[in-house]
Amino acid sequence: MPNQSLPEDLRTWAEIDLGALRHNIDRIRSRLGPGVEILSVVKANAYGHGAMRVASELVAETGIFGVANLREASELGPSAQGRDLMLLSPCLPGERHDAVRRGHIVTVSSASEAEAYSVFGPVRVNFKIDTGMGRVGCSFANAEEEALRLKHVAGVGVHSISTHLPSADEDDGFTFAQLNQFSDLVKVLRGHFPGVKFHALNSAGLLTQGPCDLEIARPGLLLYGISPIEGVQSEFRAVMEWKARVGLVREMPAGASFSYGRTYVSQVPIRTAVISVGYADGFPRQASGNGASVLIRGIRCPLLGRVTMDQIIVDSTGVDGVKEGDVVTLFGRDGNASITVSELAEQSGTIAWDILTGIGRRVERFYKD
Ligand SMILES: *Cc1c(COP(=O)(O)O)cnc(C)c1O
Repeated sequence: MPNQSLPEDLRTWAEIDLGALRHNIDRIRSRLGPGVEILSVVKANAYGHGAMRVASELVAETGIFGVANLREASELGPSAQGRDLMLLSPCLPGERHDAVRRGHIVTVSSASEAEAYSVFGPVRVNFKIDTGMGRVGCSFANAEEEALRLKHVAGVGVHSISTHLPSADEDDGFTFAQLNQFSDLVKVLRGHFPGVKFHALNSAGLLTQGPCDLEIARPGLLLYGISPIEGVQSEFRAVMEWKARVGLVREMPAGASFSYGRTYVSQVPIRTAVISVGYADGFPRQASGNGASVLIRGIRCPLLGRVTMDQIIVDSTGVDGVKEGDVVTLFGRDGNASITVSELAEQSGTIAWDILTGIGRRVERFYKD
């Protein structure tokens, strides 16, 4: 989308490339092989990309959509085109009735949790086994016994049996051992649960451990074109670019101080640009003072001092002709320069998932194909 066609009163916005989304799911598909069903994770408004648009784009290659909770499932609405929706987090007791009524696949950690759903009607469940995440799931030691108990709960259909990888992007050794352990259990459970599907791989897992013999994979971040591990990023295309505009250009003398706490003082005269984005939009306040920069006219401009609620200040001395209204790239490409979400995340002491899902409501989303 040419920036000129965007309304000039836009202060900050995200450009979302639907072609990149399709490219990424095709790459995932080719890594997994045709037999594996893709559970496209579109929780948290599709990692900030807009769940409805994203789901519509991914539906052809998607067997199941994964959302965090009941409300997110409802918000997907017709965009899911009748695909199954899996609720990845446990429902609250007060949500169970609706989850059953709407026919979602719910994630349970025990037979008794499944029973609490089945009182409202027939329900399909994803039985989660904890192999090291320590969050939801049945303890590994009791998993076979619990699965057999689950099998006999009236009104409960076991759709799938799964686990989650806590360290697939940081610890190959642990993850390999974890998946081996899960695979051994899968062999046993297959005997008890003919036709039931098994799954474990998130984005990092499918990159480092795939392909494997599980029927479903659950990519999230990788759909959005960000690789959680190094070395394969070039295979994927970042789906989102985040932009803002220059609100004010100023000539500042040596010795001027900048932003709350006056943590930066200029050593020489500089030209600053004040940018119309702040932490209320989700620009990480923790990026302050850690070498973060933005792009203006293809030039990197370092952030000066602290991120404020609605504005940031950058050094735009190196940008020929910088002026108010100029488009600023917070992450994405501008000319020959680019900034990745992962780079901004690292400078902010956090992860790409956090940056993307933190992008706020003031940031309008635009779609291009
Ligand atoms: C969010 C989530 C995923 C996707 O994780 P990524 O690292 O973004 O690929 C997969 N499985 C479960 C259970 C999740 O909650």
